Amino acid sequence: MGARDSFFSLFLWELLQGMKVTGRHLFSRKLTVQYPEEKTPQSPRFRGLHALRRYPNGEERCIACKLCEAVCPAMAITIEAGQRDDGSRRTTRYDIDLTKCIFCGFCEEACPVDAVVETRIFEYHGEARGDLYYTKQMLLAVGERYEAQIAADKAQDAKYR
Ligand code: SF4
Ligand code: SF4
Repeated sequence: MGARDSFFSLFLWELLQGMKVTGRHLFSRKLTVQYPEEKTPQSPRFRGLHALRRYPNGEERCIACKLCEAVCPAMAITIEAGQRDDGSRRTTRYDIDLTKCIFCGFCEEACPVDAVVETRIFEYHGEARGDLYYTKQMLLAVGERYEAQIAADKAQDAKYR
């Protein structure tokens, strides 16, 4: 070991270099958030849990065109359709298997009536087999509960298109 290396070794030079980095960050602005009390900002385009929406009069938006099912790269959506007594076409089954879904957002993009959307919700989980298999009634329930947020996000998103 040369004299120079001995000098650096004696005064723990590398340790001091490391402490310099620590010291620099000690007084800088903290980026850590205290989740779940604190949340980081989310984009209105955040792609979380799916929902099916209704019109303000309570009618389902979905017209069972199956575009979302066709475009889904993960084949996570299953739709069956039928005709109502009033002649309108509606889904009789609309399921999304969230264990297959890759949250690409293609279904939302493809929908001509803004019926299927991905909400901001990311705090959900499943504990048993099938918990993440969302049926039409479950998806409609999510839509009903979060419609105000969904509509606000859609309006904000439209400004940037
Ligand atoms: S987000 Fe993508 S993968 Fe998930 S259901 Fe929609 S189209 Fe399919
Ligand atoms: S959610 Fe939209 S794209 Fe999918 S079947 Fe209904 S209307 Fe068509």
